[in-house]
Amino acid sequence: PSIANGASAAPEAQSLIERGLKSSFWQLRLPNGLEQRYLRDAIEARVLHTQHAGWFALLVFNSFLLVDWLMVRDVFWISVLIRVGLFTPAGALTLLAGRRLATLSRDKGWVNTADWMSVISGWMATLSLAVILLLSHSPWAPYYHAGFLVIIIYGNLVQQLRFSFALLFSGVVLAVHLAGMLVAHDFPSGVRTGTMLMLCVATAFTLVANYLMEKATRRRYLLACRDAQLVEELSALNARLQTLSRSDVLTGVANRRHLQGQLDLAFERARTDGSPLSLLMLDVDHFKAYNDTYGHPAGDECLRQVAMALQANLRHPSDLVARFGGEEFVIVMPQADESAAVGAAERIREAIESLGMRHEGSTISPVVTTSVGTATLTQGSEITSADKLVSCADRALYEAKHAGRNRVHRYQATRA
Ligand code: GH3
Ligand code: MG
Ligand code: MG
Repeated sequence: PSIANGASAAPEAQSLIERGLKSSFWQLRLPNGLEQRYLRDAIEARVLHTQHAGWFALLVFNSFLLVDWLMVRDVFWISVLIRVGLFTPAGALTLLAGRRLATLSRDKGWVNTADWMSVISGWMATLSLAVILLLSHSPWAPYYHAGFLVIIIYGNLVQQLRFSFALLFSGVVLAVHLAGMLVAHDFPSGVRTGTMLMLCVATAFTLVANYLMEKATRRRYLLACRDAQLVEELSALNARLQTLSRSDVLTGVANRRHLQGQLDLAFERARTDGSPLSLLMLDVDHFKAYNDTYGHPAGDECLRQVAMALQANLRHPSDLVARFGGEEFVIVMPQADESAAVGAAERIREAIESLGMRHEGSTISPVVTTSVGTATLTQGSEITSADKLVSCADRALYEAKHAGRNRVHRYQATRA
């Protein structure tokens, strides 16, 4: 998953990824900035892979003492010295530092660390083999040459060198090997040429496999980037949809559906912990006349102003403003007792009046005003459901209208 971290939702990045996925078989490099990102994202994992495969290879390298004993016994103690005394300590020290090397390379952006670790260890192994071969006079020494192919397989297939490094690495090992065959030992005629050819072809095949692996790895990286980008886009879209599904199109405050859910939750919470819960129902006075005077679009703008004023006058983060319908709004106030609710309602009513929106059609005021009804759930109250709380506030609102509008009324149980 770490390889996809660099993916961003930018459309250019997306088209780069698509271009990379459509690139021809012969094209290894990823387009533009993607190549650098790919190399950097892979640094740590590749060095760690080199470290793990390196330990395994070191074990194999030493187990070849058995081969030395069987085929070049005349230089066995020299090969013990080379394998156990020189190569192993140097290799082990490098591998012990592998984890630190991985972190360091990632932080510094050294994209070639893993490749150089494998190339150098492979070339050291080549040198070891060459020395053993040069010194040995064993009749089986010519067959010992197969050891070079083992090293090529190690670099190109086990360590999965990047293709450019694989070319360099196996080219050098093959050259040493071919030179060794030409100068070091007498081969029966024909056997030498045949063996050399077979080793060239075997090397070429490991290079083909190496290329295919790198191509596939790069493709997987692009697919992972694309997935990460898709997930990112989907979550952004999902977040936006959630916001949209919760808010009123005209005013941007919570819509009725969201109100319902939040009110039910608040009601349950208040009932469980015995805390008060207040609800304000607010209605614009003579709003029909406002529409008739200024037109529907002006009416819409007025509702937006009212909603903004409501939102601006909330004092507690858990208070919620919702558009209940037409020109009616509801405010849910958890933890607010009756006097807090009435106080807030009065403050809000004044705030809207002091917006000073001209309202020539109103018979009670030259500016837009609102009437507010409040209801409060307290312990032992006869309000048994969220719907009941709403209808109590609605009833108080009705009384406020009846009493002359532009005022606050609270619901009182005794009058229920
Ligand atoms: P009252 O003081 O008794 O509340 O009188 P009122 O005129 O405000 O009440 P009434 O319910 O008779 O009218 C409400 C008006 O609100 C009717 C409708 O045209 C208007 N209205 C409802 N929704 C919208 C809206 O989304 N935009 C606009 N511009 N007007 C709306
Ligand atoms: Mg109304
Ligand atoms: Mg009204």
